Amino acid sequence: MCIKIIGFDLNIFVSTGPRNGEYKKVLLDEIKAQSLDCTLVEDISETSDINAIIYSDDSDISDFSIFSDKTVIFSIFAGVEKTLLNKTIRQPLVRLIDVEMTECMAEWCVAHVLRYHLDLDKFIKPEKRKWTTYYKERLLANQVNIGILGLGTLGSATAKKFKKLDFNVTGWSSTEKKISGVNSLVGQVGLRKILSTSDYLILLLPLTEQTKTIINSASLKIVRNGAVLINAGRGGLIEDNDLLKALDSGRISGCTLDVFNEEPLPNDHPFWFHDKVTVTPHISAPTRLESSIKSILANISRLKEGLQPIGLVKKERFY
Ligand code: NAP
Repeated sequence: MCIKIIGFDLNIFVSTGPRNGEYKKVLLDEIKAQSLDCTLVEDISETSDINAIIYSDDSDISDFSIFSDKTVIFSIFAGVEKTLLNKTIRQPLVRLIDVEMTECMAEWCVAHVLRYHLDLDKFIKPEKRKWTTYYKERLLANQVNIGILGLGTLGSATAKKFKKLDFNVTGWSSTEKKISGVNSLVGQVGLRKILSTSDYLILLLPLTEQTKTIINSASLKIVRNGAVLINAGRGGLIEDNDLLKALDSGRISGCTLDVFNEEPLPNDHPFWFHDKVTVTPHISAPTRLESSIKSILANISRLKEGLQPIGLVKKERFY
């Protein structure tokens, strides 16, 4: 798909759910600060004027057929699987790619791996006043394999961060990547290899028909015994019951889950009670207000210059 809106005055409509007021304010401030040739449209009935929509899934727009097919939709989220379920969207959809969000994700993944790698819990909350002699020699980073499923914007930044710390890093994606010092695997053979060799498996895949429940009883049989699983992609990548069985059997020695099949995670979900599971409430890389608006405006400027926006979703592949 090729988008062309060169030379247009850009009229932007903002529909970002509960934080709409904040987004509009930051957008206006930024348009002013950068002296951009863009206007904020306040009235949704002026649809013929609107050529860009800043959008989130919790917005109150459900029918996009009221907008021109040339209107470009800029999501404030990196994952757009929910948005793509809306069949009235015929317009180009651009997902959020934002350097600050990317950095946040890489830091979060590193932090959670280091927690296990350094056995931090054991010493942060030791038994009261108990000086326990500890003889276990800790592995060094260069003795540990990190496997990242999904080597896109977030996965590749995360891979580079681990590489800087001297871990052995392998990534798996649809197409081969060239990232200095990082092994790139593809296809089913690559998947078996990354599953069977990684001490830490980090999920940074989008949720699509192909990736749905990629962590299931079959793949968990291949996973290296005692591996740690970290999911910051989407909850639907995991078959929950199969993961619980793998935790009970020890095949997976621990996991940190930031995303879930149902969010918020229901109060009675077994993940809350399992001592090998850490639950975080979808906070690994939340959208950042100012930097997301700056990224979207930079993308809008690309359109005005006749360039394609970064993060244009290929709807047929669902990400
Ligand atoms: P991205 O740039 O599109 O990267 C996705 C990666 O997954 C790409 O490397 C892609 O391969 C690979 N991939 C997709 N389908 C595959 C398949 N069937 N087999 C093998 N590899 C496959 O996306 P991103 O920006 O890194 O974000 C990834 C996901 O993270 C998002 O979709 C979203 O769900 C999630 N996310 C979560 C949070 C949070 O707070 N928890 C925040 C932001 C994003 P190719 O490169 O070869 O296409």
